[in-house]
This record gives sequence, structure tokens and C-alpha cells, in this order.
Amino acid sequence: MELHGKNLIGGKAVASAAAKTFSGVAAATGEKLSPLFHEATMAEADEALALAEKAFEEYGRQPAEKIAAFLDRIAEEILKLGDELIQRAGAETGLPEARLAGERNRTVNQFKMFAELVREGSWLEVSIDHAQPERKPLPKVDLRRMLVPLGPVVVFGASNFPLAYSVGGGDTASALAAGCPVVVKAHPAHPGASEMVGRAIQNAADAMGMPKGVFSMVHGVSTESGMRLVQHPAMKAVGFTGSLQGGRALFDAAAKRPEPIPVFSEMGSTNPVFVLPDALKQNGKAIAEGLAQSATLGVGQFCTNPGLAFGCGGDEWRSFVERVSQLAGAVAPGVMLHQGISARFHEGTGKFQKVPGVRVAGKSSAEATQGRAPAMVFSTDAKTFQQQRVLREEVFGPSTLLVNCGSTQELEQIARDLPGQLTATIHGTDEDLRQHANLVAILRGKAGRLIFNQFPTGVEVCPSMQHGGPYPATTDSRFTSVGTFAIKRFVRPVCFQNFPDAALPVELRNKNSRNIWRLVDGQLTKDDC
Ligand code: NAP
Repeated sequence: MELHGKNLIGGKAVASAAAKTFSGVAAATGEKLSPLFHEATMAEADEALALAEKAFEEYGRQPAEKIAAFLDRIAEEILKLGDELIQRAGAETGLPEARLAGERNRTVNQFKMFAELVREGSWLEVSIDHAQPERKPLPKVDLRRMLVPLGPVVVFGASNFPLAYSVGGGDTASALAAGCPVVVKAHPAHPGASEMVGRAIQNAADAMGMPKGVFSMVHGVSTESGMRLVQHPAMKAVGFTGSLQGGRALFDAAAKRPEPIPVFSEMGSTNPVFVLPDALKQNGKAIAEGLAQSATLGVGQFCTNPGLAFGCGGDEWRSFVERVSQLAGAVAPGVMLHQGISARFHEGTGKFQKVPGVRVAGKSSAEATQGRAPAMVFSTDAKTFQQQRVLREEVFGPSTLLVNCGSTQELEQIARDLPGQLTATIHGTDEDLRQHANLVAILRGKAGRLIFNQFPTGVEVCPSMQHGGPYPATTDSRFTSVGTFAIKRFVRPVCFQNFPDAALPVELRNKNSRNIWRLVDGQLTKDDC
């Protein structure tokens, strides 16, 4: 596919002669890649938003089967891009081919998974309460409730998943599945891969006869362009993955609008790992190996990267720190996604090194050249960790801080004081769990996913996954951005009172023609009513 570097607005490729341009950059070498990409002008962004608003009524009314077929078609169109997509994404992000091929599968399967969900239909949470005109002292009215789409959604592509959490990622798939048109702000770190996937979605929309504004994608390298999308009155929700600063700025801007809208930002997390005493004694070596592997996987550029680990004890903890450090020393420095992320990694690890009481316990033995990150292991004690708030901040990359707690009481107090997290992990034996029942209860209040004797990296896409936790991990811990429940972010409930059957949406009518699960007068059933 020959890239044109234009914005994709309502089925057209658009670039103004007055637009500012920028280039994609090869992550490994810093070289500029062709072609030039055109930032969307304000007028172009406004056009995408107006088209999304116009498309909403028509798209939101499409039968479930048609939306499902559209999602399946997007999956096919992405696959049709072939290995050119993997090559372009690889050049722009420095991610290896095998990882990107896996990510493409995940991307395609997400569309297919949402297509199945939409076809099956029970996710609409239909509830029907029949009228009881004879009820005393007051008659009961006929009430029927279901979920309906919120309206056009702005999606900010993430830099660390150029396929699965970018233009055609989970946010776009779940918003389209919910019946919401999408306007994507492409991440400037992989504009070529963004264009390819954006064009695949446009092709699918054309082929399936979808309204013009159902999908648009704009380029931008300044925060202004993203802000404009969030502030536009046509937009009804935002999906974002990235930095705490960015996610929070968008959340604040959305709250300040004359009509505030929900912002589902997935931001920073240090994903603490707690190594309990009996497990440390019995299994310390294997846990150290697992931790070193998880912390350095994919150059540490995962939101579930374990950036903190806590344990108690003298010699056993010292051996544990030594083992993790040795393993990190053997890890070759890896190419980071973009210059900004690389600069922030070096800044973050630099800050840790300046904290009195923190030592560098291990570091990749090979020299890290420009744009690469060495694996780094820091070590400190609980007192220093509790006093120096900077040590709780996420350092995005292959870095982990190991904290020696004097006692399990101290370890539990640290857990209580931690900010919200995507995940929290416990390594323990049955005996440890008996002794530390409190810790499980504390961590349940802190994290969206609790992991036992495994590691947090690797996020399965399925209905039971929860990828979202208390702030600052996300801006709304009631929702997930991974798995089928992600669709719930982009819908709201509506109740119809006393409507004639024929005027109701098909899902709420007496005849259950879609054969979905419905709560009828308090009973879950697929029967007509
Ligand atoms: P980012 O700086 O937050 O940017 C993500 C997207 O949001 C970009 O399209 C960016 O647009 C836009 N954006 C950021 N701040 C904005 C603002 N104030 N107003 C409007 N738009 C805004 O994330 P990144 O470039 O991917 O990586 C930077 C840091 O984010 C990393 O070092 C890491 O700490 C964190 N990160 C976290 C995760 C995670 O999964 N939790 C994933 C990736 C990155 P522009 O680029 O055009 O400004």
C-alpha cells in the first residue's frame, strides 16, 4: 500500500495545503520515514466531528447483525494489509515482528469477539417489568430498560500497542460495537501503521454501506488537536491510553465542558508484587527469574510492567535482589518506542538514582546506545520508600524497584499507602495466605486485577478480564478497557414506559425475536413475554 500521509475524514483522504507536516521516525535509528504526514487543520477536525455527529443517528439504529458484519469486515480488511503492516509498525516502533504478528491477531480477534457479542445480544441488559394495573394501593406501570449507545467517541491511540490499542484497537472496536461513531487521534509515533489500519476500517465502512462519518482519523503532533476533539460538543465520550499527565489533562478538559463527558483514561501503574516470607524461602529463585523476565519483557513498555516488588527478610531477600539483578545484567538494552518515551525513561531512572538510600543493584551490562533502554534494578528499604514519594511514580520501561520491609506489618502498611493500580501480585504459599489474609483485602481495594503466584504482564482478552483500577491507574475504576465488558463504557441505560409493543426497540418487545437473555419480571429468561 502506498501511504498518502493524509487525514481520513468521512471516507475521504484529506490534506490541506496549509497543514503542518511531520514524519514517522524509525525507532531504532532515528531516521525519518516517508511520506510526510499532514496534521489535521481545525476545519478538518471539525468536519470529522460534524460527520460523526450526523452518522450517529443512522449508525446507532443499524440492526445488530449489520454492525456485527461491519466489525467482522474490519477484521478481514486488517488481515488483508498483510505483512506490510507488520513491517511499517516494526520500523516505526522498534517492536519485533513476532510480537507485532501476535498483536495483529489480538487486534483482529477483538473485532471478531465484539461482533459475536453484538450478534448474541444479551449484553444489552434488557429488563422488562410488566404493568400491573390491578396492583393496590397503586397500579404498576409497564417499564422496559436496555443499553443504548452514548454518541460519537474520541479515541487516542496508544504508542505501546500500535495495533491492539491504537487506531483499530480495543477502544475503537468496543465503541463501534456499542453503536458509536469513532474519531481517532492517531499517535504521532506510528503514523504509517495508523494510516494503514485507518484505511482498512474506511474500506470496511464503504463495503458495508455504513454512514460516512462512522469512522474518521486525524493526525496531530500538538496537544491542541487532541484537546479540540475532546472539547467539541458533538463528542460524548473519550477513550485514552498513555501518560498520567495526558490522561488527566483530557479528563479535566472534558469535565470543564459546558456538557461534561466521561473520559476513560488508562494511565500509569507500578503493578506491585508482594513476595511473602514462606514463598521467598521455598521458591525465591524461581520468583526472581519470573520477576526479571516480566519486568524486562518488551523493553518494559507494558502498562502492567511490575515496577515495584516488596519482601521481608535478611539473607533470603538479599539473595533474591542479587538474583534479579544478575538476570537484569544479562538483558541487552532494547529499542524504545519513541524518543519521548526513551527520554522519560532516562529521566525517571535518573531521579531514582538521586534518592539517598536507593542503590542501583543491577543494570544491563551492555552499553545502551541512543534510543535504547538498559534493564535496571533498584533496591531500597521500606523507610526510604515511604518517605520518598517519587519512588511510587511509574518509570515506563525495563526498571523495577525492590523494597526490603522490616516486617509483614510494614509490608501491609506500604500496601495501604500505595496509589491505585491496574494489578497487584502476591507470591505466597498456603501458609503465607493464612498469615496475610489482610494483605489480600488491602490489595482488593487498590487494584483491578489480583494475581497469585504468576506475573502481571500478559493481558488475556476475554469476558473475565479487568483492565482498569482505582485512580491514577484509570479515571474510572468501574470499567475495563480490555475484554467484552469494555463495551459498557460507551453505552447508557434508557427506560421506556408504557410504549406500544410495535414502537419499542426489537429487544424490548414481547416477542423475543433475537433470542437474547432478558430479565422479565425479575426472572432471567429467553422466553417471549
Ligand atoms: P502520551 O504522551 O500520554 O500521549 C498519548 C496520546 O495522547 C498522544 O496522541 C498525545 O498527542 C495525546 N496527548 C497527550 N497529552 C495530551 C494533552 N494534554 N492534550 C491532548 N492530547 C494529549 O503517551 P505516549 O506518548 O504514548 O508516552 C508517554 C508516556 O506515557 C510514557 O513514557 C509512559 O509513561 C506513558 N504510557 C503509559 C501507557 C500505559 O499503558 N499506561 C502506555 C503508553 C505510554 P501528542 O503526541 O500529539 O501530544
